[in-house]
Amino acid sequence: MFRRSSTNWGNQMAVDTEEIVEILDKDIISLFYENDIVLDKETYGYILEEKIDIESLRKYIEYLQEREIHIAEKSSLLDVYLPKMREKNFEFEKKETVLDKLVEKEVEETIKSRDIPAKDVDPEIKILKKMETDSEGNFEDFLETFKDRYEKISKIFKERVNMRDFQNINSIKKGENVKVVGLIRKKLNAKTKNVILTIEDFSGFTKVFISRKSSINTNLIFEDEVICVEGKCGGNIIYAQNIEFPDVPLVREVNRSDMDLYSVLISDIHVGSKMFLEKEFLRFLRWLNLKIGDEKQKRTASKIKYLIIAGDVVDGIGIYPNQKKDLKILSIYDQYKKLYELLSLVPDYIQIIISPGNHDAARPVIPQLPIPKEFASELYNIDNVLMVGNPAFFSMHNVKTLVYHGDTIFDIIERIRVPQNDVVSPMIQMFKKRHLGPMYGKKTGMSPEREDYLVIEDIPDLLHTGHVHVNGHTVYRGTTLINSGTWQAQTEYQILRNMIPTPCRVPIFNLKTHKTMITNFG
Ligand code: FE
Ligand code: ZN
Repeated sequence: MFRRSSTNWGNQMAVDTEEIVEILDKDIISLFYENDIVLDKETYGYILEEKIDIESLRKYIEYLQEREIHIAEKSSLLDVYLPKMREKNFEFEKKETVLDKLVEKEVEETIKSRDIPAKDVDPEIKILKKMETDSEGNFEDFLETFKDRYEKISKIFKERVNMRDFQNINSIKKGENVKVVGLIRKKLNAKTKNVILTIEDFSGFTKVFISRKSSINTNLIFEDEVICVEGKCGGNIIYAQNIEFPDVPLVREVNRSDMDLYSVLISDIHVGSKMFLEKEFLRFLRWLNLKIGDEKQKRTASKIKYLIIAGDVVDGIGIYPNQKKDLKILSIYDQYKKLYELLSLVPDYIQIIISPGNHDAARPVIPQLPIPKEFASELYNIDNVLMVGNPAFFSMHNVKTLVYHGDTIFDIIERIRVPQNDVVSPMIQMFKKRHLGPMYGKKTGMSPEREDYLVIEDIPDLLHTGHVHVNGHTVYRGTTLINSGTWQAQTEYQILRNMIPTPCRVPIFNLKTHKTMITNFG
């Protein structure tokens, strides 16, 4: 019952409590109860959603008891549960790896067109969001960006049953229980470990006090994001009892292709770098051409309709100090020319979509417009190539796809304090916050725009990122989140920072079933 409704929100438990209790395993409730641990509602929902087994929950309770924590929170649950889940995923990937035991034998027989389903259908691409940047980089434009951010995200809160009755900040009264939606202008971590926010809406601003004793995880609260605060008003300060993020509904209908077709997701090719793994990339291209692989592998390849590239297609020039010594191709034009030569080997019935990254010849701040024609004219001349911006939002065979290079991922990783190869947690945060990079101007440069193109307004079915050079995928509330890794071997920069890339592992997304397979061409 709980899962059937498409308008349920994960933490909107108040309305749904009875239903949950009905379906919730009684053992889970009593387990926490007997151990004197309060189960917070978000965690409650998460345990249900992920169907976390009793054994894992027992370990989690042990973990809390060791630390004398009496409130079960999703963040601490993830600390315990995620590593295990990842192990599970890894086993799954291993099982599903199609080309792991790839034998390099060219198949001589020519495959007739009737054997290639992807050849018999036209690509169905709809651009769902057009980016028009006319910004001249004025401070006023940043105000416009923030205004637009507030408008879009407060609208999302208005759609949430338990949030929609929020008040204007200038109407809250001392002594009352209040609920407001505001953009965080300032986050102050006091020495006492309490946190004080300054939040703002169109009517005014107020301070918000979050006690270190509260169960609110303040690491997950970012400057410049829009949140809903519930608490007691004490004049010009709200004593927060609860913080809500816009998030996405727990359950919703996802969009699918009627046909069994695949979309292949890659990123961070870094053509031009000495570390670009060309031999492996050519092996991938030969597989796309049904030249290598066993019958099953070729059958998969024959259903590939889309190749989506999420940025850093070339290594670029002057992206970091002394980059020259790492470059094999020293001209940006020649780098794009080389990429053109490679991509012209992709079968022409596969629609290629190219979005830029921070190494590309597009502007160095997000949002980015498509790679300009003057640098990559050959790519513009391939009929099956479509150049888009970063981020880009489109549908392919109905599946709503958000492609974003992932420029802000490292920033988010640092804030939420997860390991730097955890590419999945930051993507989940983007969904919770409905924003690809809420904190302006930290590691990632952003351009002031009249519209905030980084808000996740319409919920995609697939989010494809790169940038970290580490593969990862998960499903969050119906949306598949994929980071597509890289084609560049470990660079000196990465060795210094102990970053271990996972090159040549290609996620293949089934547009009908939404299943993801990882194939290894390394
Ligand atoms: Fe990269
Ligand atoms: Zn990058």
